[in-house]
Amino acid sequence: MIDQPDNRERQEAGQRMYDLIVELYPICRSITGNGVRETLEIIGKHIPLQLVEVPTGTRVFDWEIPREWNARDAFIKNAAGDKIIDFKKLNLHLLNYSIPVHQKISLGELKQHLYTIPEKPDLVPYRTSYYQERWGFCMSQNQLDSLEDGEYEVYVDTSLEKGHLTYGEYYIRGETDDEVLISTHVCHPSLCNDNLSGIAVATFLAGEISKTSPRYSYRFLFIPGTIGSIAWLSRNESRLPHIKHGLVITLLGDDSGFTYKCSRQGDATIDRITTYYLRKRFKENSKTIDFIPYGYDERQYCSPGINLPVGCLTRNPYGTFPEYHTSADNLQFVKPERLYESLKVLRELMDMVEKNDTYINLNPKCEPQLGKRGLYDKLGGRSDSKTMQLAILWVLNQSDGDNDLLDIVQKSDIDFQLIAEAAEKLKESKLLKTVR
Ligand code: ZN
Repeated sequence: MIDQPDNRERQEAGQRMYDLIVELYPICRSITGNGVRETLEIIGKHIPLQLVEVPTGTRVFDWEIPREWNARDAFIKNAAGDKIIDFKKLNLHLLNYSIPVHQKISLGELKQHLYTIPEKPDLVPYRTSYYQERWGFCMSQNQLDSLEDGEYEVYVDTSLEKGHLTYGEYYIRGETDDEVLISTHVCHPSLCNDNLSGIAVATFLAGEISKTSPRYSYRFLFIPGTIGSIAWLSRNESRLPHIKHGLVITLLGDDSGFTYKCSRQGDATIDRITTYYLRKRFKENSKTIDFIPYGYDERQYCSPGINLPVGCLTRNPYGTFPEYHTSADNLQFVKPERLYESLKVLRELMDMVEKNDTYINLNPKCEPQLGKRGLYDKLGGRSDSKTMQLAILWVLNQSDGDNDLLDIVQKSDIDFQLIAEAAEKLKESKLLKTVR
């Protein structure tokens, strides 16, 4: 009963994120093209997103921005003239980045252009061919098995032309120039958990942070996977020293527990905070894994010449669940209450990032007299006053300029919020000073 207001909030925020996913689901996104622009424009109705266009052919480190791809229509018709595959009904049916084609071919020839998942015969796979020119369709293995010999008409109305790669950026200015980076990919077509859940949670997290007065500045990136983060990094090298903490977020809408993949640094503050938080809050129903050089855009943020403190927060990770990169990653697979829970986790993590300062005790020779500073009186009547008392002693004792609040939390086994509150009181009483 105690969390009734939270229940209301959960339903509302969860439902609004889910509604955003419903709106974005039908759009055919890719690493370039109008699908990404349309997606960013819809996000822009929630937060003031800046759209950045990088021209085809631009060098971005070892890569080059590819030609822009746009898809208008695609289908396969059988000999009777019936559409057996229709891009307009499900955009996963078209091989993403498929070149145009219009011809009549035999079943044998058609089969060379079809992609299925034999071990999941009901599902349509998601396949791409960004850097090799070909055309193709994706369908279920069951449908492939049912195709009869005969002539088929294949039609792909796409264009692959000089244009741009588009990404979205939202910068929230905080008290300091130091930044928290939140990055999510926007390049998958009709897939909900893999890309739309990250988009929805990032959009609402940005909206909430923009209503506060944060100490850090926050940069939200909505970018096409791989080439988008490479493009952003190559254009923003001078900003990189300001990025103190970061997260790549996606896969946040299903029922599984959270997984945090550490940054390449392994012991960055964001690694320590997220590991501590998930274990404390979700215990065995969460896990932290070491950095590995595959996955999402943390691969670029954590390449050795960039090496930012950026980890990756998901529920079940990349490639580990049966719905991954298939037509089953749909509107039934993600749930409003899970989106809300993910948003809440991120809000609480950002709150810890904001508060996790390192302090120095200004009265380090023996304990200061707390009573004469009114610190006992301020605590009177609280049910947790004994723990608060302990928290004050821990913060005073450990604030030597080396330990941050999380270190003190781990040594004392006292809740982070109480330790942070104790530090705030001691700072007000001029017994502590922040070390920046
Ligand atoms: Zn993916």
